[in-house]
Amino acid sequence: MNTNMEKVIIPRGEHSISRSLLSPNGVKVLYKLREHGFIAYLVGGGVRDLLLGREPKDFDVVTDATPNQLKKLFRNCRLIGRRFRLAHIHFHDEIIEVATFRSTVDAAEAAQEAEAVPEEMTEALPEEPAEAPSEAEQLADDRDRRRRRHHHGPPILKSEDGMVLRDNVFGTPEEDAVRRDFTVNALFYNIADFSIIDHVGGMEDLRNGLIRTIGDPMVRFTEDPVRMIRAIRFASMLGFNIEARTEAAIEALCGTINKATPPRLYEEVLKLLLMGAGERTYQMMRHSGLFEPLFPHFDAWLSRESDCYPHARVGKALEWADDQIGQGIPVTPPLLIALMFGEYLEEKVAQFRDEGLPPQQATDAAVAAFAGELAPTVSVPNRVLVAVRDILNMQHRFQKTPGRNGRGVVARLAFRDALQYLRFMEQLTPPKRSLADWWERFAAQQAEGVESAPLPKGEAAAAEGPKKKRRRKRRRRKPGGAPE
Ligand code: ATP
Ligand code: MG
Repeated sequence: MNTNMEKVIIPRGEHSISRSLLSPNGVKVLYKLREHGFIAYLVGGGVRDLLLGREPKDFDVVTDATPNQLKKLFRNCRLIGRRFRLAHIHFHDEIIEVATFRSTVDAAEAAQEAEAVPEEMTEALPEEPAEAPSEAEQLADDRDRRRRRHHHGPPILKSEDGMVLRDNVFGTPEEDAVRRDFTVNALFYNIADFSIIDHVGGMEDLRNGLIRTIGDPMVRFTEDPVRMIRAIRFASMLGFNIEARTEAAIEALCGTINKATPPRLYEEVLKLLLMGAGERTYQMMRHSGLFEPLFPHFDAWLSRESDCYPHARVGKALEWADDQIGQGIPVTPPLLIALMFGEYLEEKVAQFRDEGLPPQQATDAAVAAFAGELAPTVSVPNRVLVAVRDILNMQHRFQKTPGRNGRGVVARLAFRDALQYLRFMEQLTPPKRSLADWWERFAAQQAEGVESAPLPKGEAAAAEGPKKKRRRKRRRRKPGGAPE
């Protein structure tokens, strides 16, 4: 680690962060900590983004107050994570995450803490100001203090191959800075004097547009392979370059990415592709060698050209998703997966159709086979897979004009995503009349409760579905018969 780095303090007049740029709730938390004699810094992506003139996604705070002290200080505080080591301070429309300085971190655990926290692990919000700590809390506090006293350098627990497994120790501000991933993510904004504290050379890398690990990249990526994906995320998001040694280490260690757990890799890959620069990121991932071990089957398929053409639809689908995100239209995880793997899945569906399965069952089988391929590396949650299957299945349904059961189609959970998927497909191959427009209007009429809205027969017919033909056939077979 970069422990020989000089600490640099950039005074308030020499950087661009001012309190007015921070979230008022973030400022409240920082000030309250300060008033009670604690160190309080803004840290991580918030500082980085403010310095770059970008709007931060969230504001993380770091302090020397222990979680139990935080709980006493803030009545709107929940301790979260496997060992209640993080505090979430809840406000009306915002959560400020407050962490106690740490000497090192099991990043996998940190990621889990930052993501969905199982209900049983969260504590109920106290209605009244927090009471005196329970005996158990007191014991935990004492344990923390003991650990700090006996802590001579970071006692990182690593597996034989150097992956960080566990740590338990709170640390100093400097230790907290150097255990972070990249230099540009380790800057502190100090509420006491509005300065920036830089332990790791992050300001210079920020000026030069460089993503550089703190310390030896081979060691840092071995400790936590997900940092390799994060390097690409930040480079792509900020338009930065990956510093040469950091990049070389990714090239050398990309094959170890699967040491991270499949659920965590799913979360990281999703973040990566949904930040609005998915296409560029996808190219960077393929180029860096990280894509292949994550999606071996899909990558092999990508490398095989189809009819002498590369599979260009993947890139186009991601560009389309980026465009939607850029316009502020949300892209859900199932839609992203359906878009990205659409052509690949369609090929699988066609194979199952060739084996004699009817369309819906063929789609079910294709999605199940896809899930099986992915499970060892990137595990997509079941509910997401079900939605992907529905998005694909609904594409057949869209081709038929609704008749009386159109309402059922619109009411399906996956309707919006399926419609967006159809929009992408229509952009790829523009039809004479848009089916997506037709269904959009139909859904709007349903939402307004226009029960007797004239069934847009002309539109439906013009929208070129197979229905037109089938209807004629039926009429011929059952002239004047009862409605279907
Ligand atoms: P974003 O704007 O995408 O939220 P961020 O930098 O805030 O970017 P987070 O995932 O929210 O990223 O993490 C917050 C901070 O925690 C990071 O800036 C970094 O300092 C630290 N961190 C997160 N993940 C790791 C990791 N795997 N290893 C080391 N430090 C990490
Ligand atoms: Mg963040």
